[in-house]
Formats: sequence, C-alpha cells, structure tokens
Amino acid sequence: MPHTGSDTPMTANADQAEIAKFQALAHRWWDPNSEFRPLHEINPLRLNWIDEQAALAGKRVVDIGCGGGILAESMSARGARVTGIDLAEKPLRVAELHALESGADLSYEKIAAEDLADREPGTFDVVTCMEMLEHVPDPASTVQACANLVKPGGWVFFSTINRNPKSFLFAIIGAEYVLNMLPKGTHAYEKFIKPSELIGHARNAGLEPNRLIGMTYNPLTRRYRLVENDVSVNYLVSARKPD
Ligand code: SAH
Repeated sequence: MPHTGSDTPMTANADQAEIAKFQALAHRWWDPNSEFRPLHEINPLRLNWIDEQAALAGKRVVDIGCGGGILAESMSARGARVTGIDLAEKPLRVAELHALESGADLSYEKIAAEDLADREPGTFDVVTCMEMLEHVPDPASTVQACANLVKPGGWVFFSTINRNPKSFLFAIIGAEYVLNMLPKGTHAYEKFIKPSELIGHARNAGLEPNRLIGMTYNPLTRRYRLVENDVSVNYLVSARKPD
C-alpha cells in the first residue's frame, strides 16, 4: 500500500498535518494544565450526557479519534467495554500507558473508522466521535462509518464546532489568540461544521438524530456548561440507528 511520510495509508480519510499536530503534543495529553485542558474540563459534561442517553454500563463502545483516551477511559470506568481508535500513533501509546497506570481495562487500535466499519460492521452498542470531525477531510465519510459500526437500536454521539462569525471569534481568535487555551492553528474555520450539516450527514447515513445541545465556555469563571439554547460555538449531537 502506498504510504505518506508517516505510516498512515494515503487512502485513509485523514489529513497528515492534523495527525502531526496531535502526535507532537501527545506526551502532554493527561496533563490537565496542558493544551488538552479543555478536553479534561468538558469530559464530565459529555460523559454524563452520553451515559444518560445510552446507559454505558455493559455496552460495547468504540471511541473514534480517541486521542490519549480521556473520554474512552471515563466510559470504561462507567462499566462500558471500550475500544479507542485513532490514526495518530503517539496519542494511542499515551492512552495505553495511562490505562496501565490507572488499571483501566480497555483496548486501543490504530485504524481508520472506515476500515473498522468494514471489519466489524454493526457490532457496537455505542459509537462516540468527539472533537474529531473538524480535523478530517471528509466528515460525511466518518459519520457514515460511525453509522455502519453501530448496531440497530444503538447510539452514536458526535461533538464539533459550529461555523459562523461568533464561532470564528470564540473558537479561533478567543481560544487560540486571546486566552491562549489552544495552540495557534489548532482549528481551521472552514472545517467547522454547522449542526444542520452534521445532522444532514447523520440522516444520509441512516441515523435518526435524537438530541442537539450546546456547550458554552465562560472565560471569567473558566467553566464549561451544557446549554439547551445555544449551539453557536461548541455543540453535541446524539443519534440512533433504527431497530
Ligand atoms: N476525541 C478525543 C480527542 C480529540 S482531539 C477527545 O475528545 O477527548 C482530535 C483527535 O482526532 C486526535 O487524537 C487526532 O489524532 C484524531 N484524528 C484527527 N484526524 C483523524 C482521522 N482522520 N482519523 C482518526 N483520528 C483522527
């Protein structure tokens, strides 16, 4: 198979420059004061939102674009049988080491969502794909892979960033240039995804959208919240595959 500079196949729905960014920072993934601080802070919110809907205990779960495993490990701690997948090698190694230390019982694999969906279609009760779609060249293909991975009656969860002047101001200018919460260049405005677009991809993939909720950040209190009425910047979508 032809290879790019790294060991990710060229055929994958992946942007090597994006993968390289996460490779370079991987060793700081579990430092709650690092570039990954936002993922640590939002994790309890999204974990509870997912668990409320999908009742994680005992479920077979795949976390797509799991990175260093913040969400994957927390779902495992709720009793789910979790596999985390990503195309960046180093975050996966960090995730494995962290699980060894914490005693978490879960597995990780370097594989594209599309390839796992070909190998194990319809075998997961729950699929999560958080803060990842805005980093891939073809998000509709990833959404389709998520739909293919989930069992009939199962749940799929996405989170990403909306695309509008406010999200440009908050998610890029604010987070990367004013508050220095994220490294400059973390996000590209044109890759942000409107809720209508994500919900369209989900429907086209045969999923039934269930809930849409916003997530806001208050820079003064430094707190994130889930909010029903504001999806202007960060948001989450849940969907089900019909029985
Ligand atoms: N989902 C995790 C990590 C988000 S960071 C969380 O929310 O805590 C984005 C992750 O997406 C990184 O780990 C990056 O390596 C991964 N990623 C980017 N492009 C990808 C692709 N094409 N396929 C799989 N993973 C990808």
